[in-house]
Amino acid sequence: MAKGKKAVFLLSGVFSSPHPASGGELPTEAVAALGGLRASYDLFLAAAGGDGPDGGVGGPLAAGGDVFSGLCPLPAGAAGDLSRRLGEAIRSLGVRTEGSFFVADDPRLVEAAEGAGLCGLYILTPRGFRLLGDLAPDVFVFHDLPDAVRWILDHPEGPRSVSAVVRRGAAAIRRGGLVAFPTETVYGLGADALNPTAVARIFEVKRRPLHDPLIVHVADPAEVAALVTEIPPAARRLMDRFWPGPLTLVLPKRETVPDIVTAGHGTVAVRMPANRWARELIALAETPVAAPSANAFGRTSPTTARHVDEQLHGLYDEIIDGGACRVGIESTVLALAGGRTVVLRPGGLAPEEIREVTGEVELPVPRGAGGASPGMLASHYAPRTPLFLVDDARPYGDRPDVGLLLFRDPPGPVRGQVAVLSPKGDLREAAANLYQALRRLDRLGLRLIVAERVPPHGLGVAINDRLSRAKSGDTILNS
Ligand code: AMP
Ligand code: MG
Repeated sequence: MAKGKKAVFLLSGVFSSPHPASGGELPTEAVAALGGLRASYDLFLAAAGGDGPDGGVGGPLAAGGDVFSGLCPLPAGAAGDLSRRLGEAIRSLGVRTEGSFFVADDPRLVEAAEGAGLCGLYILTPRGFRLLGDLAPDVFVFHDLPDAVRWILDHPEGPRSVSAVVRRGAAAIRRGGLVAFPTETVYGLGADALNPTAVARIFEVKRRPLHDPLIVHVADPAEVAALVTEIPPAARRLMDRFWPGPLTLVLPKRETVPDIVTAGHGTVAVRMPANRWARELIALAETPVAAPSANAFGRTSPTTARHVDEQLHGLYDEIIDGGACRVGIESTVLALAGGRTVVLRPGGLAPEEIREVTGEVELPVPRGAGGASPGMLASHYAPRTPLFLVDDARPYGDRPDVGLLLFRDPPGPVRGQVAVLSPKGDLREAAANLYQALRRLDRLGLRLIVAERVPPHGLGVAINDRLSRAKSGDTILNS
C-alpha cells in the first residue's frame, strides 16, 4: 500500500464559475458532492489567481468551510514552472500522486498536474470551454464539478479503472454483446457491426425502427477498405483532414456489411471517432463497431454516462464512463457520390470546414420536402416537456412554469428557469451544452420550454436542426 495522503486538488474556478447551461445552484450542489469525497480523500483548494472575482481563494469556496483541509496556492506561469511548483506542494503536503486527482478549468494546470503524476480532470466552465482548444485530447472533461466528483468515486484509479472496463467491453462486443461508450460527439451504444444478431439488439434496446441505419465506427482509416467498395478521392481528403473527428461518410458498401446495419441501403456510413476510449474499445474488439446514440429512440441524446443510464437502465453489457463529450452533438453525415458532396445530417463538423476541402457542399433539403437521409425524422431529440422554438425567447421569461433555453447571455436580467448555451455566443460551446441543458430543463417539471434559434452558420446549422426536431410547435400560447 503506497504511503501518503490521497488527495483531490480543486481549482477554485471550478466552483465559482458554473456554466449557465448547468444551472445556477452549482456551488451548493458542488459542496455537497465534495462531502462524498471526504471519507477517502484529503481535499486541497488550489487557487490559480486570475479569472474574475473568485479567481483567488474565497467566495463560494469559503462558504464550503471545513471541506478544505489545506490550501495550495499556485501562481500563474508557464506549465513547466507550474509543474515544479505543484510537485513541491505535493511533497510538502505529503500527498501520494497515485490515485490522487486535480480538477481544473485551465489546460496549463491540468497539464502540470499530469506532469506531476496526478490524474487531471477538466471542467467545462465558460472559461474551461474557451480554453478547450488547448487541452490535450485524452484528458477527461465534465459538464460540472458534481459530475467530476461522481466520476472520481467510480474510478479510484483514474484512467486505469477505465481501461479495465474497456477491456471487458471489447470482450463483450466480441461475444455479441452491447457496450455504451463515449465518443466526442455523443455516447454510443455499440455492437459488432459484422454480427447481425448483435446489431439487432441495438434496435431492440433503443426501440429504434429498422429503417434507420447505423454508423459503423472504426479505430483506424485503414479499416474502411474492408467495409466499402470504393473510396472516392474527396472522401480520402476528408478523412485525412477531419478524422478522427465528428464526420461520417456514406460510401458504397461491401457484402460483408449486414443489411440490418444499413437498413437495406447499398451504402454504409463510416466514422473514426476521436475519443481515446472509443478507439481503444474498437481496436481491442478487433471488429468495426456499429453504434447509434445511446438513448431511447427519439429522445434527447446522451453526453454523459449518467444520461445513458437514465434512459437505457443498464440494458447493455458494459458502460464506459469517459466523462462528458467535447463536441456534444452528433456527427455531420456526408454523402459522396457522383462527384457531389451532400450533407445528409448537419452535425459537429461545420459545413464551412467541409467546403474548404471539397469546394462545394450541398446542405440538407428542408424538412417537409421528403427528407434527405433515412433517419432524419421530423420528431427526434425530444424532451418530455413540450418545446417551442422562437427567434427571441426573452419575452417568455416571467413565468414560473416556463423554462428558457437562450443562446447567449441576455443584455438584462431574465427571471425564471434559464439555461444559457454560451454566455458569449460561441456556437461550438452552444453545441456542447445543448443536450445537457435540455435535460436539465426537462427535469424541472415545467409546463413548457421556450428555445431560441441560434445563428444559422457553423455549428448553428446542426443546433437549429436538433431544436427544430425536438420541438412541439413554433408559436406560443398566451396564458
Ligand atoms: P445515429 O446513429 O442516431 O447518429 O444516426 C445515424 C444517422 O446517419 C441515420 O439516422 C441517418 O440519417 C444517417 N445514415 C446512416 N447510414 C446511412 C446511409 N447508408 N445512408 C444515408 N444516411 C445514413
Ligand atoms: Mg440518435
